Amino acid sequence: MRVCVACGNALQTPDWRCAACGWQAQVVDGVATLLSEGEIAEAFSGEQIDNLDAVDPRHFWFAARNQLIAWALTRQFPHARTVLEVGCGTGPVLRSLADARPDLALTGTEVSDHGLRATARVVPSAALVRADTRSLPYDQEFDVVGAFDVLEHIPEDGEAMRMLARAARPGGGVMVTVPQHRWLWSPVDDYSGHQRRYRRAELVALARAAGLHVVLVTSFVSLLLPLMLLSRVMNRGRAVEPRREFAVSRRANRALMTVMRAELAMIRAGLSWPAGGSLLLVAKRT
Ligand SMILES: [Zn+2]
Repeated sequence: MRVCVACGNALQTPDWRCAACGWQAQVVDGVATLLSEGEIAEAFSGEQIDNLDAVDPRHFWFAARNQLIAWALTRQFPHARTVLEVGCGTGPVLRSLADARPDLALTGTEVSDHGLRATARVVPSAALVRADTRSLPYDQEFDVVGAFDVLEHIPEDGEAMRMLARAARPGGGVMVTVPQHRWLWSPVDDYSGHQRRYRRAELVALARAAGLHVVLVTSFVSLLLPLMLLSRVMNRGRAVEPRREFAVSRRANRALMTVMRAELAMIRAGLSWPAGGSLLLVAKRT
């Protein structure tokens, strides 16, 4: 069900109006805005979202991550029909899910108005709501709730994880990707506004504290980890040029994608990589 972000009571009517406390969402261009003035002011900056625009969905990192997400969702939640993605950015994950699983009903939330407009263009079938991950208006509403490279931006990640768990239906669950290993911290993390990179045990503890049962956790971008480290060392002391992190030639991209495919094949075969640039966690709500 949908719940009031002000008082927590169930919303009884299809519009975003609370009969209990009188709270009402603003609807702008058909998108319900559930943010307070303060939350709008501190929203993810337009510049960071603009950088996401520049990312090609064929880029090996994004392409491999999206394939991994679609696989894990189908494998762990074979009966899922409804999926919420929080912090959907400009919509690349929703787009990839809409292509891979046209049977799913997709919903996205995002604080950035710019991100929502971009998502509406690339995934016209998705329902969109402007909401903060720390105050989601859902309780037992979706089969699967995903947050892909979102938690590391949020100071109160425990609160965010509880909101993800609450939004999932019993029998459904939560899927999360985050950057891994503190020793991989680089100027790109500062530039991206990351609060932290995670250790596996930290992420698992976060899910358990939210009452979730962890069913899959693996590192990914594991085979390319030595390359990531090398790039960190070589760029130490140099001026930050975060866009370079994403800039690869078409030929290099093909080669890196081949490595990522090999890695994903091993994850599909049951391997949980111990180290890697990112972590995927899947957890169920009982
Ligand atoms: Zn209310």
